[in-house]
Amino acid sequence: MTLTNLGLPMPGRPPAPGMPADGPLLDSYGRIATDLRVSLTDRCNLRCTYCMPAEGLQWLPDSQLLSADELARLLRIAVTRLGITSVRFTGGEPLVSPHLAQTIAAAAALRPRPEIAVTTNGLGLARHAAKLKQAGLNRVNVSLDTVNAEHFAQITRRDRLDDVLAGLAAAAEAGLGPIKVNAVLDPRTGLDDVVPLLSFCLEHGYQLRIIEQMPLDAGHEWTRAKTIEADTVLSTLRRHFDLQPDPGPRGSAPAQLWRVDGGEATVGVIASVSESFCGACDRTRLTADGQIRSCLFSTTETDLRALLRGGADDDALEAAWRTAMWAKPAGHGINDPSFIQPARPMSAIGG
Ligand code: SAM
Ligand code: SF4
Repeated sequence: MTLTNLGLPMPGRPPAPGMPADGPLLDSYGRIATDLRVSLTDRCNLRCTYCMPAEGLQWLPDSQLLSADELARLLRIAVTRLGITSVRFTGGEPLVSPHLAQTIAAAAALRPRPEIAVTTNGLGLARHAAKLKQAGLNRVNVSLDTVNAEHFAQITRRDRLDDVLAGLAAAAEAGLGPIKVNAVLDPRTGLDDVVPLLSFCLEHGYQLRIIEQMPLDAGHEWTRAKTIEADTVLSTLRRHFDLQPDPGPRGSAPAQLWRVDGGEATVGVIASVSESFCGACDRTRLTADGQIRSCLFSTTETDLRALLRGGADDDALEAAWRTAMWAKPAGHGINDPSFIQPARPMSAIGG
């Protein structure tokens, strides 16, 4: 593979016209990336139908995963050279990574200190929440699509709802708030289940965020026709709750927020497909095997692991990361007839 294939600047070649060599992590459309998503593993202990097949996937071999030291070095470059201000650890399931607490501590030791969050399915969170808080974790997002145990088992192919609920309670107890609950609605049960799910979140003080299902399933079975769209979710919720637009500024947040029943509590709807927010995207992504992706839907990657293991210095790693982000596409193009679903599923990218 050549350096050009990897998206790296060729030695002796000037950077892409207009690409700054320092300062914020810019793309050629003027967006600044400050939010880093780090996938720690592609493995998972659930098998959500919209993400993974029942039998799981061919996991990345350990030798291809970044080590804790490699991760710590890339985090340092991201924060101290590229202006990253928030880091979210995800996967696969980040709680199954042996490096999670150590990597959170490495991120928390950086200055300026980034905001540190984890997106998890919640299994095992009851055991880990206090320890992760101590390591420097600020917040968690817990993925939970339904509070109906039978539907939970159908969607995730595991009978583990009680473990997720225990994980949520432990996260609240450990002070990892505000706790967000991420829900991707199953087309068979989602509209029936979203009302009790919101009631559950309101009762416990969790912020529900409903995400439109995206074409990132390993089976490539997604179709827009099967997706429950934001408008349908809102009209279902409106039959049970009064929803008013949240007056706060939305900024680069993907969720459109609604105040529920005249109170402070909000519900968010992330219309990734029906109303993309790519124009305000502030994300850059690092996969568990050390690839930079400028977008969830990128079809190209930049191999920082090869550079790291080939002895590259920090300047070269920084330049490669900047070059990858400079080439970030304007948008995901899901609704374009020429759209190509990326080969990596969500679990191997990090959502
Ligand atoms: N395993 C962890 C979890 O489930 O929270 C972290 C990784 S998971 C890939 C991150 C988020 O991506 C979850 O909230 C999950 O619901 C969401 N997700 C997975 N597949 C998706 C898809 N096809 N479309 C939209 N969101 C998806
Ligand atoms: Fe695992 Fe998260 Fe994918 Fe579900 S969404 S299979 S919990 S990685």
